[in-house]
Parts: sequence; structure tokens; C-alpha cells
Amino acid sequence: MTKRTVLFGVLLIAGIGASSRAEVIRARTSIQIPDIPGYVTLKCDFHTHTVFSDGAVWPSVRAEEAWREGLDAIAITDHIEYQPHKNDLPTNHSRSFEIAKEPGDALGMIVIRGSEVTRKMPPGHINAIFLQSNPPLDTPDWRDALRIAADQGAFIFWNHPGWTGQQPDGLARWYPEHTELFDKHLIHGIEVVNDQSYYPEVHRWALEKNLTMMGNSDVHDPIGMVFDTDHQERRALTLVFAKEKSLDAIKEALVAHRTAVLFEDMLIGRQEYLEPIFKASIKVVNPSVTVKGKGLALVQITNTSDVDYQMVGNNRFDEITGSSRLTLYGGKTVLMQIRGNSETTTGKKSFELKYTVKNLKLTPEDSLQVTIPVEVNFVPTK
Ligand code: ZN
Repeated sequence: MTKRTVLFGVLLIAGIGASSRAEVIRARTSIQIPDIPGYVTLKCDFHTHTVFSDGAVWPSVRAEEAWREGLDAIAITDHIEYQPHKNDLPTNHSRSFEIAKEPGDALGMIVIRGSEVTRKMPPGHINAIFLQSNPPLDTPDWRDALRIAADQGAFIFWNHPGWTGQQPDGLARWYPEHTELFDKHLIHGIEVVNDQSYYPEVHRWALEKNLTMMGNSDVHDPIGMVFDTDHQERRALTLVFAKEKSLDAIKEALVAHRTAVLFEDMLIGRQEYLEPIFKASIKVVNPSVTVKGKGLALVQITNTSDVDYQMVGNNRFDEITGSSRLTLYGGKTVLMQIRGNSETTTGKKSFELKYTVKNLKLTPEDSLQVTIPVEVNFVPTK
């Protein structure tokens, strides 16, 4: 071996070492929530901060950490009025979006230009996204700021209405100022979930007033400092049911209220979206089983989504009793029990087992109802 090949070999080994390490760390973990008929399901966070307001990360980091976490789009929404780093970093309301967009484009991560209009309650903190230009929002009257945002074609939503920084009891309150914004079409969506808080009263308002439901992180620190992202813990997300993965399609879907919220192990949204997500996630592997007398049959149900569906139902029929509690774990195939109730039943019969999926929330009180069809072939014991 010549000196030259030895050197080449050393470089090769060093190179392989460096690249395999880089691959392990800089990897994307997909979020398994299926598309629904007619739409792709995009995983989005429309509320994030950087060092350009009170965040602790450089904007380009936001793009890559969101890509790693399996997101499709993020909005950079630095505060207009709160600039605690201004002695170190001059106020520049456009800069965080501009810096995040380039690495976002390279990764296929849609980065959306936004700002957070930051006022005392009422009206509180309000995000405007899909802006054309951020600096015009830096104006004394919040009414002017939101009008300017709307004139730019922005989608505007009310952030964390129950934030304890402004509502010490954690209860969201709807003020006359919010009626004014709503009547003037200056508020289009609302955060049902912000960071680690779910606001049931906001969930109700979203349904009553047909506001777009949002769930966002409002992250200030590096995402891995807030969530254990290496172990499947993830930020709250807005699921957007879009005609395609593009900036314009996301905006169209938000305006049309086609969203749901993914929060911890909960999906929050309207039945028209949660039902097709559930159906697209579930496959009954053996929908036809044989039950011998009072014996047991096992139905295999595969859940291809990341959400553990927590099912409860009273499934006692004359001929069979089905599992009353069942968790369909995400990414697994789970056994549902069917027990025969009689020694003498014969022939084939179809059943619809009814369940409430506790963690798919349609309202603060109600969860999605689903049915699992099974066909049972009864064989008498003798
Ligand atoms: Zn914020």
C-alpha cells in the first residue's frame, strides 16, 4: 500500500464516520396522520418565535427542527411590540422570516411570513400570517395594525385566549373588542390549543362562530428543550386539509376552516375531518371470525396512524360480547375479543360494534362515535 492510498483510506474512514453520524442526528421522523378523501393532511405550526423577538433560536434553526419533527409548514411570528433583544439585535420585523425561508425551501418546509401583534387584553395577542410585509404592522393602534394585515391578505387568529399571563385563572373571555374584530372579519381563526394548554371554552367558540381551529406551539426555546422529540413527544400542531402541499393551498384551507388540532394524544376537530382520519387509519385484518359456543375469537385491528385510539363501548349482543375497552395503539395491530354468549347459536351473522373514541374530541364533552364491522361464523360446541 502506498502512502497515498493509506492517506486516502484514512480520509475515507473519517468521511464515513462523519457522514453516518450526521445522518443519525439530522433525520426526519414522519408524523403518521393519513390524508382524507380529496385532501392531503399537512402538519403545521403557525406560531413560533426566534431571537428577532423573545425567542432563543436563530430563525434558520426553526426550519430544520420543524423538518426533523415531520412538519410540512411553519409560520415565523415574532412579536412586533416586544423586542427584548433590541440592544443586541436591532429591530427588524422582516428578518426572521427571510432567514428561515431559505433553509426551509431547501428542505421542502413551507415557511410562512407572520407577525404577532402583542397587546394587553383585550384584544390580547393576535397573529397575522401570509403577510406581504411586516413593518407596516408596527403602528400604535392595534385596530390599524390588524386592518393593515387584512389589507395585505393575511389570515388572522387570536392566540392563547386563556393564557395565564393575561387571564390569571386560565379562563378565556370573549370581550366586546373580539366581537368588533369578528364583525369586521378581522379574526379568522383561534388557538384551541397553545403550547401545552387546551382551552375548552375556545373550542366551543370555534364551533359556534365557525372560526378556524388552531393548535400551535408558540415555541421560544429550541424545540428539543421543550419536548422530548427524540422519544416521539411533539409540539401541538394544526392539521390542515389542503388540496395540495403549497403555500396557497394552506391559506385556502385555513380560510375554509379545514383544520383539526393534534395535541398530545388527542385529535380535536369537526366530525367531517376526524371520522375520515379514523377510517383511513384503521384496517380490520380478519373481519370474519369463527366462534365456537361460548368460546373466544380474536379480531386483529391495525392502526397505521401515530394516535392511540382509546375506544370504549358497551358491545353486548344476544349472541356475542365484544371488548368494552380497547386501545388501538398507533403503528400496531391490536386484538379485539369477541366472546360467544350461547352454546347453541349456528350460522353467520354480521355485527357493528359501536365505540366512542375518547381522545377524538368533537366538542369539549363529546367524542367521535365509530363502528367496527365483524362477521361471526357460529359453530355449536357439540
Ligand atoms: Zn407568541
